[in-house]
Amino acid sequence: MTRSSAPGGERLELRLADHKPLYSEAQARVEAERCLYCHDAPCTVACPTGIDVATFIRKIATGNVRGSARTILTANLMGYSCARVCPVEVLCAGACVYNHLGREPIQIGRLQRYAVETVMDRGGVPSLLPRKPANGRKVACVGAGPASLSCAGYLALEGFACVLYEKRALPGGLNATGVAPYKMHVEGALREVDLIRDLGVTIRSGVEIGREVTGEDLLRDNDGVFLGIGLGSDTRLGAPGEDGPGVAGAVAWIERMKTDSGFTLGEGRRAVVIGGGNTAIDAARELAHLGIREVTMLYRRTAEVMRGYAHEMAQARMEGVRLEERAVVRGFERDGQGRLRGVLLEDGRRLECDLALVAIGQASLREVARQFPGVEVDAEGCIVADPVTGRTGHPRVYAGGDARNGGKEVVNAAQEGKRAARAIAVQCGVSITRGSAIEAGHP
Ligand SMILES: Cc1cc2nc3c(=O)[nH]c(=O)nc-3n(C[C@H](O)[C@H](O)[C@H](O)COP(=O)(O)OP(=O)(O)OC[C@H]3O[C@@H](n4cnc5c(N)ncnc54)[C@H](O)[C@@H]3O)c2cc1C
Ligand code: SF4
Repeated sequence: MTRSSAPGGERLELRLADHKPLYSEAQARVEAERCLYCHDAPCTVACPTGIDVATFIRKIATGNVRGSARTILTANLMGYSCARVCPVEVLCAGACVYNHLGREPIQIGRLQRYAVETVMDRGGVPSLLPRKPANGRKVACVGAGPASLSCAGYLALEGFACVLYEKRALPGGLNATGVAPYKMHVEGALREVDLIRDLGVTIRSGVEIGREVTGEDLLRDNDGVFLGIGLGSDTRLGAPGEDGPGVAGAVAWIERMKTDSGFTLGEGRRAVVIGGGNTAIDAARELAHLGIREVTMLYRRTAEVMRGYAHEMAQARMEGVRLEERAVVRGFERDGQGRLRGVLLEDGRRLECDLALVAIGQASLREVARQFPGVEVDAEGCIVADPVTGRTGHPRVYAGGDARNGGKEVVNAAQEGKRAARAIAVQCGVSITRGSAIEAGHP
């Protein structure tokens, strides 16, 4: 079976080390033993996939690491990446009862990573979850990000033949191309792709739906189609001087920093990042970690109303990132050779910089949805689908993840992919046994 491999060479992301490295067995056991195994565990309620946190932690404490990984992956097949990239501070760990006792919450993400990664290192995941015999049904998933990987993985366990079509050379979606390198490198995202592949899922990279293969082809050849296409390219600011060297969309820049071995930082010493969401904070922190001397975030409102998480912004400040509030960019200043020299603000200020990243959102991929008759896109560009089943206006087409929710977290994409998998199985008349993985976790 073909494995995924990361681009070779000196990718910039490899300069950024893991902020929360894998626990040793002793560290994991000590942390697991602190857990109070709460009966109505608020950590589980706070997890969008409903992982039984107390149970998986108890299993670590008793040395049953395989059992622990089984509990996690049964509820969430993307448990490996979620352990590394989830904003646990506002989800499970944020809900841990220890917060009310004035003590450090349990390091749920790190324990989850310990359990899943340990079993992956031993090659034991495929035998962890029972797989039913082939049921003769076929499903195509568009995109190979967390939503599609989750959907296809659960369907494969139920005996479906699933093919994921990914337009990029690298599968993994934003887990491979977007998440901050100090949380996970491309290699980590690809390990998880291989985990899904090992469940029997086929991944066809470099195939764009709407180009090489059409929506009509997929509908003709499959019992169901899942759209996990995520979002499109960075939204432009539309300000004078934006086109040209030194100005880039933040998501596009992050992708090159993570995946392009020929990509360098250039001469840049002063950078600005325009925006106040998590992508803006990530980009600013990454620039600071890569050694850019002055990194300034420009946000048009005040810090209190920023969309980015407060804990991430606090971390960014500690790493030397400056935040300019009420800073509205009206243009980019260039010299005679077209080189970026600074940004101009509406209040008349001018900020010198040689790199500017625009992080004000991502466009939607409306044209992919148009490939499927009956599938609609709302005014915000989100695919219209039932919030529980993910079913769109076409009876055999489902959608989930960023393309449906407008851009949330990996764990939301994983849960929406799983819910759609359940709905597809039901629609295909495949009987789901009680206690099977596709049924576990939050409904
Ligand atoms: C910079 C950045 C950092 C982030 N950091 C975090 C984080 O730390 N933690 C967290 O939980 N979340 C994070 N997120 C959000 C998270 O990455 C997304 O919510 C999640 O990846 C959504 O999964 P998805 O499968 O819906 O879409 P994606 O991950 O975007 O995957 C969609 C895939 O579909 C493919 N595709 C699109 N159109 C086609 C087509 N026509 N044919 C074939 N393939 C197609 C795309 O190439 C892509 O690979 C971050 C997002 C960004 C932008
Ligand atoms: S809330 Fe905290 S202490 Fe209670 S079960 Fe969850 S992780 Fe353990």
